[in-house]
Amino acid sequence: MTADPTTVVPYAPEPFTDFAVGTHAEGYRAALELVAGRLGATWPLVIGGRRIATDGTFPSVDPCAPDRIVGYAAAAGAADVDRAYEAAEAAFPVWSRWTAAERARALHKLAAVLRRRKLELCAWETYEAGKNWREADGDVAEAIDFVEYYARAALRLDEPLATHSWPGEHNVTTLEPIGVGLVIPPWNFLLAILVGSTMGPVAAGNTVVLKPSPQTPIIAGVFMECLAEAGWPDGVVNLITGADAEIGDRLVDDPRARFINFTGSVATGLRIHQRAAVVHPGQRHLKKTFMELGGKDALIVDETADLDVAVTAAVQGGFGFNGQKCSAMSRLILVDAIHDEVLERFVAAAARLRVGRAIDDADVTAVISERQFDKVVEYARLGAEEGRIALGGGPAEERPDGGWYVAPTIVADVAPTARLAQEEVFGPVVAVLRARDFDDALRIANDTDFGLTGGLISRSRERLERARREFKVGNLYLNRKITGALVGVQPFGGFKMSGTNSKGGGPDYLRLFVEARTVTERL
Ligand code: NAD
Repeated sequence: MTADPTTVVPYAPEPFTDFAVGTHAEGYRAALELVAGRLGATWPLVIGGRRIATDGTFPSVDPCAPDRIVGYAAAAGAADVDRAYEAAEAAFPVWSRWTAAERARALHKLAAVLRRRKLELCAWETYEAGKNWREADGDVAEAIDFVEYYARAALRLDEPLATHSWPGEHNVTTLEPIGVGLVIPPWNFLLAILVGSTMGPVAAGNTVVLKPSPQTPIIAGVFMECLAEAGWPDGVVNLITGADAEIGDRLVDDPRARFINFTGSVATGLRIHQRAAVVHPGQRHLKKTFMELGGKDALIVDETADLDVAVTAAVQGGFGFNGQKCSAMSRLILVDAIHDEVLERFVAAAARLRVGRAIDDADVTAVISERQFDKVVEYARLGAEEGRIALGGGPAEERPDGGWYVAPTIVADVAPTARLAQEEVFGPVVAVLRARDFDDALRIANDTDFGLTGGLISRSRERLERARREFKVGNLYLNRKITGALVGVQPFGGFKMSGTNSKGGGPDYLRLFVEARTVTERL
């Protein structure tokens, strides 16, 4: 069964909302009010379609006002992990035999539900992750895009692969889902990555155990509501929330997991990758791991660049969602000839950013947790040792409601080998590096463990072409900001320690979650 052209319109990314339009802003405020009425509730596990309350719970709080409890999430234990795998295994034989067209229709229905609840989902993100309106809108749009895009991508999986014929034989190679998988997303794209890394495997016919970040478990509960509202079969997606120390290893080690779809930090990714290599009693397969990890992303500006474009790209890339993106520009590499001018303009533009509450749609909001606040402040202060603090350098001057606000920080004169030039900060801290010339800038840009995103602002055709060939990143942006990849437009994933280059939102993503079977019959 292949595509149903009468019901499936071509994929196009969800448009962003323009909050300068009064009615849209009103809509957002109304959604914030609606969600405010649901804050503080207790959210259960969802296993095999059943909502399961646990004895223990843990709070998820608003980073901009940590006294505000967004909700209490169920704290799963060993028995719940066991039940979740059981439910996923039980659902697999049925779900995996649905045709791709049938599964695609379930995804289209889910996308429609997400779209109907879009502003509400945005409001949840504003409360739970401190996303301002634009960032939340982008995240929810991306979630919808993943669902729509993978629905269409699934249709291709039912078509046999092209093979050559051989006299006297019939040969065919087909694709089939692998089985039960474990999905572990991060908190920063709390809905988009959760939905994308779940819906890829599921669209391909697998069933999953989904474990969101303990920083943002409530949005996962809301997503499970959306699945139920879309009439999804029980057990295809099973939600487990809890403390990583309690359930992390158990989930990873379970012999029933056939694959692990992980997005997060290098440290956690490596731990999971190593543990997943161990074959446990009763396990008759090798676990596949898909690891999308961190970045230390650089934007190069050369002396031919349009400096207006450069400054805008630097501010958006460095401080969008407070630098808490894997793709965030955390290194700005300026060639000597324009270094001082661009630095000055970058500092002036960043100084104009409004730091404040996400509900008020400030430009820079609180970072996700107290732990992250301490870590980012430490890096900001390190700026005084490793360079010259040109802006910020610690906690924000005003911290309304006791939120975890860090001042937008720019550190100049950072050496390429400095910690600030090598380690992922994941906060509003940008290291500015001086390069002799373009060659030097490219060498510095490539000289880290990471290879996720990068960019060049230049008018030189020759250099743009060289960057295409020599700038070793999975997502390279020329003459624009280095964040904001769109599903189906810029398939996303990095090189080197940035991970296994899954290319989420790309045409081959679903191929990660299927196995090929070749059948030969002598005629
Ligand atoms: P993290 O590594 O702390 O956590 C990621 C996920 O792993 C969370 O769900 C967490 O609860 C879980 N986890 C933690 N310890 C675990 C364990 N022992 N066993 C099982 N699961 C465990 O990362 P984070 O702080 O949530 O996210 C930020 C990181 O994610 C940054 O490094 C960022 O660059 C990266 N990231 C990468 C991409 C990408 O596409 N490459 C996208 C977004 C974020």
